[in-house]
Amino acid sequence: MGSAVAYHASRLGLSVLGIDQFEPPHDLGSTKAETRITRLAVGEGPQYLPFVARSHEIWRELEDEAGVQLLHECGGIIITEQEPIPGQRWEDFVTETARIAERGGIDYQVLDPADLRRERPWINVPDDRNAGFERTAGLVMAERAVEVQLAMARRRGGRIHTGETVEVIEPEEGYVTVRTDAGAYEATNVVLATGPWFSELAAPEHREQVSVTRQVVYWFEVDDLDAFTTEAIPFVMWIAQRDEDYIGLFPMPPDGTPAVKILGEQFLDTTDARSVEREVSQSEIDTFFEVHVAPKFTGVTRNCIRSAVCLYTNTTDDHFLIDTDPRSEHITVMSPCSGHGFKHSTALGEAVAQRIATGTSTHDLTPFRSRHQNR
Ligand SMILES: Cc1cc2nc3c(=O)[nH]c(=O)nc-3n(C[C@H](O)[C@H](O)[C@H](O)COP(=O)(O)OP(=O)(O)OC[C@H]3O[C@@H](n4cnc5c(N)ncnc54)[C@H](O)[C@@H]3O)c2cc1C
Repeated sequence: MGSAVAYHASRLGLSVLGIDQFEPPHDLGSTKAETRITRLAVGEGPQYLPFVARSHEIWRELEDEAGVQLLHECGGIIITEQEPIPGQRWEDFVTETARIAERGGIDYQVLDPADLRRERPWINVPDDRNAGFERTAGLVMAERAVEVQLAMARRRGGRIHTGETVEVIEPEEGYVTVRTDAGAYEATNVVLATGPWFSELAAPEHREQVSVTRQVVYWFEVDDLDAFTTEAIPFVMWIAQRDEDYIGLFPMPPDGTPAVKILGEQFLDTTDARSVEREVSQSEIDTFFEVHVAPKFTGVTRNCIRSAVCLYTNTTDDHFLIDTDPRSEHITVMSPCSGHGFKHSTALGEAVAQRIATGTSTHDLTPFRSRHQNR
């Protein structure tokens, strides 16, 4: 989120200073593990469609300028239970996705499970499931996108300070003072995009709306690597009865870890970016493979060659929190994106930068305002 704002703000001619405590892209936050799913038919809600669609355009512009590939349009399959599950995080995701695809004129096909098994025998989908396929869905290279946006911000005169930690943000009359472990800066506008560290600098009203959870990503070796690349197969999102039985399979991008990336989700144990357990144990790997991978996918071995711990920063309703800070109209908060923010990130960065530069943005950010009652 921070690199996107820095890129777009410098593109708009603003004077930009980006500050990060580490050397982004790094592997301690939420933007890591090579790839992120992107879908134009965003079943999370119609408010997201303009952002993901614009992000796809910007990834392509950045690819042209930087000469690297950021977006792999490999397509995406979504599998869910047939009946909506009341109270479940994903509820009626396939139907909602189909509705948004229809509204947005997006190429989306509802699939019969038997046909899906015939065409893609590596997916053990039972007959009593719903399934759909979006051709324009794909994977975005996450760390590479950060790297490119920071390089392009610098090319346009942006200053990026890394290895510098922001300690305090002090709202003043008409500006903001940012104090770090290396100095102090005055800015007319500050964007707080601190990911899973959000609560450390956020206002109390915002802090109480977010929680951070540990998520684990696994790379399993496959019998035939060529059959599991972004050239060969789409990603799969498999939504189950219980939130914690969700599973996502990501094909291998060019130059990626030579394996298939598979992840689950959990929301039961909250944590924070400083104390999270960053090791993945062998028993976690074995259990994940046996419970989630082996029954669903053929051709994936139990040999896990890499794993990583990543962090979600969720709001209470699993949507986004992008808003003016309660302490000052000169501060914007934008990081809590409930585990589905990357696909929208560059367009969100553009909209936030536009709002700072002109007071308004091409795409509507108001659906992501704080749900705090006393706002
Ligand atoms: C396992 C996993 C899978 C995901 N899958 C998808 C997906 O398929 N599709 C999708 O769209 N989204 C996905 N997401 C969500 C998406 O990756 C995140 O929404 C996005 O990467 C968050 O970026 P961010 O900039 O908010 O946070 P981060 O990338 O964590 O960046 C925050 C930055 O702030 C810096 N910082 C924090 N505090 C300070 C401070 N005090 N001083 C200086 N710097 C500071 C940190 O060093 C860090 O670099 C996934 C997330 C995870 C964890």
